[in-house]
Amino acid sequence: MTTRFALARAAGATAAGLSRLTGRGGGTTIGGRVTLLVDPNALAAAAVGRELALVSGTNGKTTTRSFLVAALRTRGPVVSNAGGANLPTGLTAALTTDRTSTVGVLEVDEPFLPRVAAAVQPRAVVLLNLSRDQLDRYAEVRRLAGIWRDALDGSSATVVANADDPLVAWAATAAKDVVWVGAGQGWTYDSTSCPACGDVLQRDATGGWRSEQCGLARPDPTWRVDGGTVVDADGDAHTVTLTLPGQVNVGNAALAAAAAWHGWGVEPAAALAAMAAIPSVEGRYLETTHRGRPVRLLLAKNPAGWSETLRMSRPDTPVVVAVNARAADGRDPSWLWDVPFESLRGRHAIATGERSRDVAVRLRYADVDHVRVDDAAAALAAAHGSGPVEILANYTAFQTYRKVLRDA
Ligand SMILES: [Zn+2]
Repeated sequence: MTTRFALARAAGATAAGLSRLTGRGGGTTIGGRVTLLVDPNALAAAAVGRELALVSGTNGKTTTRSFLVAALRTRGPVVSNAGGANLPTGLTAALTTDRTSTVGVLEVDEPFLPRVAAAVQPRAVVLLNLSRDQLDRYAEVRRLAGIWRDALDGSSATVVANADDPLVAWAATAAKDVVWVGAGQGWTYDSTSCPACGDVLQRDATGGWRSEQCGLARPDPTWRVDGGTVVDADGDAHTVTLTLPGQVNVGNAALAAAAAWHGWGVEPAAALAAMAAIPSVEGRYLETTHRGRPVRLLLAKNPAGWSETLRMSRPDTPVVVAVNARAADGRDPSWLWDVPFESLRGRHAIATGERSRDVAVRLRYADVDHVRVDDAAAALAAAHGSGPVEILANYTAFQTYRKVLRDA
């Protein structure tokens, strides 16, 4: 360890401790920021001697990271970045705080993947999907796919990539060692054209896609998902009984299992069994009660995420739709018009959050019976009946409901 790195680590730990003492926050990000200020190479230094996996993509990073952590913990301790701290500062903090685990799993914000991969030289990179996220922040997904492709060109990492997402597939074909997983793609509206040549992609009923103009096509996956079953590279089928809901999470489990096997030799059956036991991930999919009623809390941050979340939502339950538009959410909520809220027809909905009016207008156009209630707890109480309720919330609205449910 260099003296500079040791100093940087100590300074970061002091800053994190001070931040916690003065009640300014959890300290994770400020600690990492100070460490990187003192030693800009701290992330690379902290990664030396470690076998790391990076997980990136628009949706499912946190869940897939948790799946892979569970799989690798069947072998020993694993360092990871919890709490959404997925920028270089948060990654540096995670790796400098835990100095003993030699294996680690880091979720990485999409635009930072090239910089982080260059710094930590990962053993495996897991690429989930790319779709529009916060409209005011990242220019467009084709550009993100391009910087991933440049970063993976010549990389020695094992890249575990979702073959069903054309943008991911195009980026990953630049890597030398790719494991293709047919993990599924529920949202195709952000990949209608070929990322290589701009041609309209031809799709077939079985999930295949192809550009007639340049020949880019869905790679043949070595792992695939078939309903609730994950078929591994040897053709062995594993029935997956996740506690977490949704077909999308079976796909995430397949990607994590492929990374655990090809990167660390963890048997797929053992890896998937470890994932099955996870009840919720940092409040996502949390099932609890509020004033005696069963409540399930679901997070969705962008059109693709909302589409998946609506698909896993239970029919017949009243549903709270909570939307804010703070910096962390993206300040432009016009994406509401891209989300198929029509699927809530026939259910009682409660529009809430700081953009409850935008939600209410969208629900009115979708012909969904609804009321608008500003206060988070009151919105929950306004749900018809006394049976189960679901809350679908975007990022900061979700954090509000975590607190409401915790404090109840
Ligand atoms: Zn093409």
